[in-house]
Amino acid sequence: MEAWFFENQTGNFGIKIRIKSILYHGKSDFQEISVYDTYEFGKMLVLDNAVMFTDGNEFIYHEMLSFIPLFAHKKPENILIIGGGDGGIIRECLKNNFVKHIDLVEIDGEVIEVSKKFFPQIASQIDNKKVSVKLEDGIKYLKTVNNIYDIIIIDSTDPVGPAEGLFTKDFYESAYNALKEDGMFVAQTESPFFNKKLIKDVNHIINNIYKISMMYYAMIPVYPSGLWSFTVGSKKYQPNKINEVYKNIDLSSLDLKYYSHEIHISSFILPKFIKELLN
Ligand code: SAM
Repeated sequence: MEAWFFENQTGNFGIKIRIKSILYHGKSDFQEISVYDTYEFGKMLVLDNAVMFTDGNEFIYHEMLSFIPLFAHKKPENILIIGGGDGGIIRECLKNNFVKHIDLVEIDGEVIEVSKKFFPQIASQIDNKKVSVKLEDGIKYLKTVNNIYDIIIIDSTDPVGPAEGLFTKDFYESAYNALKEDGMFVAQTESPFFNKKLIKDVNHIINNIYKISMMYYAMIPVYPSGLWSFTVGSKKYQPNKINEVYKNIDLSSLDLKYYSHEIHISSFILPKFIKELLN
């Protein structure tokens, strides 16, 4: 008997993924957490019926959400990750030798435990001595810190439930205040096909808060439409330029499968329909 996982991504559009088995299904205080074994992409983490990542292509999202700010910033020592309980962003950030400390603020500790059990290669660095895990709401946490982070990365679920407040002006202003004077902020900001209003609003807010604000994109097969956006706000450095301190770095030693110097530059070259959306 064939078994399929179906994500109704927009109400009118969805994704079907054939599954071998259900490896885990539970309900935390915040969301339903499921792990499936799929034919196409290996194991898959699903939260509240939305695909988070699969073993087969998690590297795209995790490399692109981490390496763009990490290699545009001159000296990213102190990092904040909000969400990201699977550990993928931590794993990528620790590949930059400047990184001295990472605060991970994840509201749901069960996501961390499930990720460690079923995705050890993604969660591999969560217990690294440079990492401090805080099980709390990123919205509240950000209001308690000021001028301490070089980079803030928002690796959240979609703007529903506990993550809804991570896409607001108030939150983005808290993030701005938590950054140092040359800090950089980046967030995953959904699909340019299905989340046009959100992307317009977020870019308008970031544009008004930061000296520099830009969008870049990556191809993520299991996300709605496969085309995914990321929005950067920067107090000083140009996000679409690799900082000259890295000009001699050998990326081949960093176990990368998607990010490269060429991808860094080209991911900011937006198709006309997205440029029009932002203008
Ligand atoms: N989309 C990512 C990917 O593709 O790898 C996965 C993101 S990670 C699993 C998303 C995390 O954001 C979830 O673990 C969720 O619990 C967390 N989250 C949602 N709202 C939050 C909030 N307000 N504060 C902290 N973490 C939050």
